Amino acid sequence: MTSGTTRYFADHAWLGPLGEGDGLARDVLIEVTGDRFTAVRPDAVRPPDAVQLAGLTLPGLANAHSHAFHRALRGRTHRGGGTFWTWREDMYALAERLTPDSYLALARATYAEMALAGISCVGEFHYLHHAPGGHRYADPNAMTDALVTAAAEAGIRITLLDTCYLTGGPDRPLAGPQLRFGDGDADSWAARAAAYRTPDHARLGAAIHSVRAVPADQLGTVADWAREREAPLHVHLSEQRAENEACLAAHGCTPTELLDRRGALGPRTTAVHATHLTEADIARLGSSRTSVCLTPTTERDLADGIGPAPELARAGSPLTLGSDSNAVIDLLEEARALELDERLRSETRGHWAAADLLAAATAAGHASLGWPDAGRIAPGALADLTTLSLDSVRLAGWQPRTLLESAVFAAASADVSDVVVGGRIIVAEGRHRLLGDVAGELHRAITGPART
Ligand SMILES: [Zn+2]
Repeated sequence: MTSGTTRYFADHAWLGPLGEGDGLARDVLIEVTGDRFTAVRPDAVRPPDAVQLAGLTLPGLANAHSHAFHRALRGRTHRGGGTFWTWREDMYALAERLTPDSYLALARATYAEMALAGISCVGEFHYLHHAPGGHRYADPNAMTDALVTAAAEAGIRITLLDTCYLTGGPDRPLAGPQLRFGDGDADSWAARAAAYRTPDHARLGAAIHSVRAVPADQLGTVADWAREREAPLHVHLSEQRAENEACLAAHGCTPTELLDRRGALGPRTTAVHATHLTEADIARLGSSRTSVCLTPTTERDLADGIGPAPELARAGSPLTLGSDSNAVIDLLEEARALELDERLRSETRGHWAAADLLAAATAAGHASLGWPDAGRIAPGALADLTTLSLDSVRLAGWQPRTLLESAVFAAASADVSDVVVGGRIIVAEGRHRLLGDVAGELHRAITGPART
């Protein structure tokens, strides 16, 4: 053991998709130096100086798709029903009021809630760039900086997916609250995004809001920006049938085909939702190795539908998971929903093993966010750990043979007891070590300047 090394001792650990068999191991001694794992030894004897991780330890969870400010809408958009499009009006009304300071407070509290839920890295799909009316802040990346600072203060990593959002639809300029999203054209978006310098806990990626929000002849500019930097490129894809119909009317093809034609698909691209697809769309996404991010709790909430996730996985698309609108922040719920929603769609069970669902919530998600060195407990990987206590009523009666299934199908974010991010303890015994009263921070942020 070298100086500056911290040792953890996990009763049970799932070592990640690269583990043997189902990847479960017992009595695992984990050594961390700096922000990396330096040794991982199953069947070890606990040294007296090791930090005990009681329960089941997983790699840190990756939340591959988030809009932090939507957290303030939780529970407030259900009365009276409505549609995706009326929900969007509520979201715009909230977007209109946020400032860099109030967004920092709201995002910090939201990311702290994520940390408490075992999330070590968030992909923030960020489009609220400018001041009301589209006026530029003195620092044109003030809102980006608020989010990156919020993640640092909440103790998690962030991939800031700087989102190009130029139009309200084909040939429809931005209007009202949408003016805050717009950079004018893709070249101006690219110049602003490129000017941001990320600190160590952050990486910068690109996003195309959707094919309705970026004119077809400017999609290539965003794709090229990401390609030149070898950065992630994310895009909302076919979340609603109306998006497909508008694309067909304007361009004579599906959104997937349009993105493919403009060079926007590939192994560094993640299509978010991918709900309403043709067989040809599935083949294009799979053969290009485009990842697909499912956000089942949001898709339920917004009545989006259930996408063809097994078909996409079989075609070659890695699957990832996100909390998206943050109506729920629980990656275990997203993971089991992938399987359970498919059971409802197909009327059959057993589409994914628990380890496959955890792979979506860990390694695949981190890779899609530009952190391929996270998401597994192995020497050399980033030292992110999430420990689930096995003591709650939800998990009482668990058996070693089916521990992974208990965790995925019965545990909740409330069972997360300890979280380590980059070798630093962020959550201990269910308490956020940096912020303490996260519920209070959320309450103040939501009922204060960001109130709806
Ligand atoms: Zn989204």
